[in-house]
Amino acid sequence: MSIKDPIILVIEDEAPIRRFLKLALTNHNFVFKEAFTGKEGLLQVANIQPALIILDLGLPDMDGLDVTKQIREWSDIPIIVLSARGQEQDKVEVLDAGADDYLTKPFGISELLARIRVALRHASKTTDEKTESEYNFGNVRVDFAKRQVFFKDKEIHLTPNEYKLLTTLIRYSGKVVTHNQLLKEIWGQGYSDETHYLRVYMAQLRRKLEDDPAHPHYFITEPAIGYRLKVDN
Ligand code: CA
Repeated sequence: MSIKDPIILVIEDEAPIRRFLKLALTNHNFVFKEAFTGKEGLLQVANIQPALIILDLGLPDMDGLDVTKQIREWSDIPIIVLSARGQEQDKVEVLDAGADDYLTKPFGISELLARIRVALRHASKTTDEKTESEYNFGNVRVDFAKRQVFFKDKEIHLTPNEYKLLTTLIRYSGKVVTHNQLLKEIWGQGYSDETHYLRVYMAQLRRKLEDDPAHPHYFITEPAIGYRLKVDN
């Protein structure tokens, strides 16, 4: 453990999960801190200013959604939410309230670490990196300045909405983006129920930019939640 190791605060009432996370995180050079309740978690967030928060949705005293909302009133610290299967609606709400990602229990260490890496990278991105003029993944290259997209070095025509969808997913690369967030970014307010639009445009993007559109490697569906541009790292 060195002074620069990032602190991760785990807000979770279940002891076995805290133990698992403590082991996983300390083995990977994170400093592990814990809270058992929402109220205690909120205090700790303010006191220790962790680099990242892992937050259980079902806490004894508070809902994870309310914890997220309170943190987001004053802080952008990345939040990864832990949820149980079947809590899709809860996940959507908490992501829309500003959580960065989610993990469904039970989850593995490699999945956990990948999510943490992505969230920390997004949090530390400087303005410089955000204004990079090119983005690459798989066989795809996007030139933002010229608004050109290439697949296997061949220019691909995208409609304006396909392009917006693509660049939005790139902006959040590696992170889940909810249907609501995507619809708002692309069509503006008032379209939050039109998830079938997204399905149509996503199918088009996959057809144009995936090697095997039926088995997408990059444009990943998060069932009942949204989509994720998977990045190799
Ligand atoms: Ca719980």
